[in-house]
Amino acid sequence: MEYITRKSLLYKSGLGFYCINHVQGCHHGCRYPCYAYSMARAHGQVKAYADWCLPKLVANAAELLSKELDRLKTRPDYVRLCLTTDPFMYGYEEVIEMSLRLIGLINSHGIPCSILTKGLLPLELADRDRFHTDNILGISLISINEEFRKSWEPNAAPYPERIAALRALHDHGCRTLVHMEPYPTPNLVRQDLTEILRAVDFVDHIYFSGWNYNPRVKEFSGYKEFYRDQADLVWRFCREHAIQCDM
Ligand code: SF4
Repeated sequence: MEYITRKSLLYKSGLGFYCINHVQGCHHGCRYPCYAYSMARAHGQVKAYADWCLPKLVANAAELLSKELDRLKTRPDYVRLCLTTDPFMYGYEEVIEMSLRLIGLINSHGIPCSILTKGLLPLELADRDRFHTDNILGISLISINEEFRKSWEPNAAPYPERIAALRALHDHGCRTLVHMEPYPTPNLVRQDLTEILRAVDFVDHIYFSGWNYNPRVKEFSGYKEFYRDQADLVWRFCREHAIQCDM
């Protein structure tokens, strides 16, 4: 894979949390569209979708992060991985190894991480000697229909593998999260939300939200009522299964 260097890594995002993005681009190539891709194109970092799908690893990420962590005056509650790429990019071993190294580094400063991926969360994350027990380990999951995934998240991990990796970490006592956003309307895919929820009924936390930035959602008449009903369903399911729920 290709490499770049950066002058800084750890930053406080406009959303108020600390974050690192140690890769430019993302092979998953989501077509929702991917907000990070739109921003990278607007800022001239990538020219086209094909460039975006060829990730470039920040070669000096660990050195930068180590210095930045040492210089922190106040300790953040969490550091988020990632806002503009995927830390466990499916099939990219170097990205995965670097992410584990950086999480270990952050955790060694007493700071837990909140991690979200459409790849596979490695079982090493359950290693209590190496990683913080308060790390939040999350997957993005808006369907369990593989045809949908191939259309909209073409290079991300297949859903059964993604869920199995999360379940293995749950079985090892880790805190787990499912991020259900952007949830599709029925004109994009016909599916039963209860089936998806049942597939992840072991998790500690579910976040649910609609698909706010694709005009095709509004082509579904009654999309507002649809989202209201689905949100009610998620809320009830979480209550019945003692899962923390956010929307
Ligand atoms: S996984 Fe995230 S960063 Fe990667 S293409 Fe999809 S939405 Fe963009």
